[in-house]
Amino acid sequence: MVWAVLLQRFQCFKDTTKSSDDRTCEICFETIPASKQFKSIRCSHRFCCECISRYIETKVTDDNVVLITCPQVGCKVTIKPLKCRTILRPETFIRWCDYYFFFFIERGGASQLIKT
Ligand SMILES: [Zn+2]
Ligand SMILES: [Zn+2]
Repeated sequence: MVWAVLLQRFQCFKDTTKSSDDRTCEICFETIPASKQFKSIRCSHRFCCECISRYIETKVTDDNVVLITCPQVGCKVTIKPLKCRTILRPETFIRWCDYYFFFFIERGGASQLIKT
């Protein structure tokens, strides 16, 4: 009897931890299922692919920013163009890669491009 209760509790616990794979987007505050999360960033912040692609589009096309950091205020982790190819429009991706390339060439650091 006790075991049955314990087992039930344990299963409830398991279920709640499982659903916590769904993270909240730090931009739109919508719950994002694991499959729609943008994970190619080395910090713990999570965003949905739509928000992050809109964010990058704005940075690249309006502000001409090369080193794009995590949208979370105060987070300095940079986002690499190659990691975002699948979520960006091809024009944006190419433009950003161009900037990125010349940015590093100007600093004489082509080798930095390779070790992404
Ligand atoms: Zn979002
Ligand atoms: Zn971050």
